[in-house]
Amino acid sequence: MNEGLPVVVIGAGPVGLAAAAELVERGLPTLVLERGEGAGAAVSEWGHVRLFSMWRDLVDPAAEKLLAATDWTRPAADGYPTGAEWVESYLAPLAAALGERVRFGTEVTGVSRLGRDRIVDADRDGRPFTVRVRTTAGEERLLARAVIDASGTWGTPNPVGGDGLPALGEADAAERISHRVPDTADPAVRARHAGRTTAVVGRGHSALTALVALAALAEQAPGTRAVWVLRRGEVGDAFGGGAADQLVERGALGQRAEAAVAAGHIEVVTGFRTARVRPEGDRLVLVDDGGRTLEPVDEVVALTGFRPDLSFLSEIRLGLDTTLQAPVELAPLIDPNVHSCGTVYPHGVAELSHPEEGFFLAGMKSYGRAPTFLALTGFEQVRSIAAHLAGDHEAAARVELTLPETGVCGGAGLFDDPDVAEADAGGCCGPAVAEEPPAAAAGVGGGLAVSPLPLLSAAPAAPADDGCHGGRSVRTTEATEPDRVS
Ligand SMILES: Cc1cc2nc3c(=O)[nH]c(=O)nc-3n(C[C@H](O)[C@H](O)[C@H](O)COP(=O)(O)OP(=O)(O)OC[C@H]3O[C@@H](n4cnc5c(N)ncnc54)[C@H](O)[C@@H]3O)c2cc1C
Repeated sequence: MNEGLPVVVIGAGPVGLAAAAELVERGLPTLVLERGEGAGAAVSEWGHVRLFSMWRDLVDPAAEKLLAATDWTRPAADGYPTGAEWVESYLAPLAAALGERVRFGTEVTGVSRLGRDRIVDADRDGRPFTVRVRTTAGEERLLARAVIDASGTWGTPNPVGGDGLPALGEADAAERISHRVPDTADPAVRARHAGRTTAVVGRGHSALTALVALAALAEQAPGTRAVWVLRRGEVGDAFGGGAADQLVERGALGQRAEAAVAAGHIEVVTGFRTARVRPEGDRLVLVDDGGRTLEPVDEVVALTGFRPDLSFLSEIRLGLDTTLQAPVELAPLIDPNVHSCGTVYPHGVAELSHPEEGFFLAGMKSYGRAPTFLALTGFEQVRSIAAHLAGDHEAAARVELTLPETGVCGGAGLFDDPDVAEADAGGCCGPAVAEEPPAAAAGVGGGLAVSPLPLLSAAPAAPADDGCHGGRSVRTTEATEPDRVS
C-alpha cells in the first residue's frame, strides 16, 4: 500500500536537503516540506555568522553530484562561508536542483500513521504515515512511506532560566531578550548594544561569537559593555581547545574571546543560575537562585543552546533518551555529561531508529539537547538512512564518519563549585585541560561580579580509542558544540 508514496523530509536545511539528495540518488520518491520561504531558512537567520567549518565539510556528497549536473560552481574547499554564503552558494542551488520535490511555506504540524493513533498496534508498520501541514492555503494531509524529521532546533532555544524553565519575568522581558548572535553591522541591532550594557548568557560557540562581536563594538562605541553570565562555577574549558582544535577557526574563536576578556571588554560572572528577570526602569536586572543580583543591563543575549520541538510528534512512537531527548542508541555517544569531546563512533540508521518503523530524526534535531552537532555528522546520518530505505543494508551499516578533534576532552567540566564537582570533570575521556585555580571565587554583591579567569593550557586531545565506548571500535572523535548551555 505504501509503494509509490514519497519519503517525506521535514525541513530544507543543510541536512534535510542532503537527505533529499541521498534519496534521489537512490531513486526514491522524495518530498521536502519547509516552513520557511527559502532553503536554509534557519541558517539564514544567523547568516552574518562565519562558520568554523570549511566548505569541504559543508557539502553533502550526493548533493554535490546533483549539483554537478547544473551550472553550479563548487566553492573553494578551504574557505569558511558565512551562514548567508552557505545558503546562497550551496543550499539555494541545491533546492533549485531538487525542483518540485521541495515545497516552501509548508509547516509540518503533525505526523501519525494513517488511521492509527500511537496506541494502536494492529498493522501499524504496514500503514503509511500521515503528515499534517499548514500553508497559506490552509491545512492539508499528505501520505508518506517514511518520514525523516530534519527540522533542526533553531526555533526552540533554551531560556535564560538556569533550571531550564523560563526565569520568572523572562516572558514579560522578551522584547529585550534576544536568542541570536548580534549582527553589529545591522544598524538596528547595533543601536541596541552600542554604548550600552549587554548580558550574554551561555558558554557555547555562539556565546563566544557574541562576546567577540560586542568587544569589537566596544572599541568603536565608547560605553559598550558586556557581562558574560555562566552557570558554571568557573570558566573552565569554555574557550575551547585553541590551537589543539582541529577546526582551526573554532579554536581561533575561543582564543579571540579569551583575548577580549583579557583586554577588559568583558566582565565574567560565574556560578550564576538566573532565576528571575526583573525590570528596573528601561533596564533589566538578573537575579540568581541564591538571590544575587547583577547590575542592570540594557539587553540580554541568551545563547543557552537549543532543544528539540517534539510537539508535532506526539502520535509517533519515539525511542528517546530521558536526559538528552536524542535517540536512545545515539545519546550515550554524545552526552555532554560524559563527553566534552563527545567521542562518537560512526553512526547511522542503527542508532537513529525508533520503535516507529520508518521514522527518523536526523540532523541537529537528532542530537536532542546535546550541543555537539556538525553538518558532516548529519550528511552521514542521512546517507545511511537513505540506503536503509532503499533496501541496501550493507551500505546503511557502512557509515564512515570523519570528524575533527576539538583539543578539549574533559567530560562535563565543572558545573558547580570547582572544589565539589571534581568527580564530574574527567568524563570517560579523561581530563585534558589543566587549569590554575581561580584567584578568587565569583561573587556578586550588588555590583557587577568579575571573577578572575583561570589560565588555560590545553593538553593534547585524548586518543581516538580511549576505551570509553563499550568495546565498539572508535574511528573518530566528535567535535564540541556550536552551542552549549552554560
Ligand atoms: C551560529 C551557528 C553557527 C554554526 N556553525 C556551524 C559550523 O561551523 N559547522 C557545522 O557543521 N555546524 C554549525 N552549526 C550547526 C548548524 O546549525 C548545523 O550544522 C546545521 O544548520 C544543521 O542543519 P539541520 O538541517 O539539521 O537544521 P537547520 O539548519 O536548523 O534546518 C532545519 C530546517 O527545518 C525547518 N523547519 C523547522 N520546523 C519545521 C516544521 N515544523 N515544518 C517544516 N519545516 C520546519 C527550518 O525552517 C529549517 O529550514 C552552527 C549553528 C549555529 C546556530
